[in-house]
Amino acid sequence: MPKRSIRDLDLKGKTVFIRVDFNVPLAPGGQEITSDKRIRASLPTIQYALDQGAGLILASHLGRPKGKANPEMSLKPVAARLTQLLGRPVAMAPDCVGPEVEKMRPGAGQILLLENLRFHAEEEKNDPGFSKQLAALCDVYVNDAFGSAHREHASTVGMIPFVREAASGLLMDKELEYLTKATKNPDRPCVAILGGAKVSDKIEVIENLMKVVDELLIGGAMAYTFLKAQGKPVGKSLVEDDKLDLAKELLARSGKTILLPLDHVVVDELKEGAPFEVVANVPEGKMGVDIGPATVQAYCAVIAKAKTIIWNGPMGVFEKPPFDRGTVALAKAVAASGAVSVVGGGDSEKAIKSAGVADKISHISTGGGASMEFLAGIELPGVAALPEK
Ligand code: AMP
Repeated sequence: MPKRSIRDLDLKGKTVFIRVDFNVPLAPGGQEITSDKRIRASLPTIQYALDQGAGLILASHLGRPKGKANPEMSLKPVAARLTQLLGRPVAMAPDCVGPEVEKMRPGAGQILLLENLRFHAEEEKNDPGFSKQLAALCDVYVNDAFGSAHREHASTVGMIPFVREAASGLLMDKELEYLTKATKNPDRPCVAILGGAKVSDKIEVIENLMKVVDELLIGGAMAYTFLKAQGKPVGKSLVEDDKLDLAKELLARSGKTILLPLDHVVVDELKEGAPFEVVANVPEGKMGVDIGPATVQAYCAVIAKAKTIIWNGPMGVFEKPPFDRGTVALAKAVAASGAVSVVGGGDSEKAIKSAGVADKISHISTGGGASMEFLAGIELPGVAALPEK
């Protein structure tokens, strides 16, 4: 059942509390925002609520202040940037709860940004008293912070029973729409591309996606744990020896769903510009740092036929060119495939951007941890807590 959306509510004249994800990267000192991507991602919901005649209270965490006020993790720079982006004033509250904040209730068309929720330890403890204080600030609660939806905190879960009306925001709607469709009812063939450093980080994702997808293409260092489990030579590639039995079991269970690299780019030593060669089997003393051209060709053929593609994790050490070639080639193939493509956050997003094809991807998730948990089939507490339509 889809969740009730902000579009389903009458917001006119109401005070709307929007839990946003303004956890932006800051330069040392905490004054300068180095990427405002997360602020921009929340603009459609903010603009929509303003257009409907609401007064807005925006709330977010920033960094890990561990329950204490810390000026280096203040949301003040965000208020300034948001003022620029919206072209209207955004008032900054001195705190996120308390009498001072209660007096600052915004009227229709006005915006109040609360100070960092995590300046209070009660936020992460999901404290009922703190939840009630937050809820008392508003008439309507909206959760647009997909990136925090895997957290069971006061602002993402606890305050919902204490508000009159609750709904998801437009960014949350978009995230859930793409991720749900790709994992529950995908157009087929549905292909997942999984890479990155460790199998152990992605066991649940592999297990869940194995049930959903038609083919699962594995690359990155995690491929070497699977190859070693098959008895193949891996040289000194990154392997998780304690996960070999699990890898063997996953391969046995997956039948033909899991595809592994057919060749590799190997080096003696992992550093930029290191001499490399392409091999079918990783020799003793060498380390696999990227998928080779035969693998690229085989994987691109699968990608070209796909109608849905889910991607998480690079195919090699993409930060050190030329070991980004496999990742870039697959990114281009995904972009050219015409399939609905959903990419998890973090390194996968960086890889897509360095391939220059971000605008051809249907959806790049704004939540690294949250999208991983979603792909693993785990119900996100911040989503579960929202009412259905
Ligand atoms: P993850 O956060 O699990 O998606 O992992 C991303 C990291 O995996 C990146 O920093 C890559 O450099 C690294 N990685 C990918 N392939 C390899 C490889 N073959 N050997 C070592 N590290 C790798």
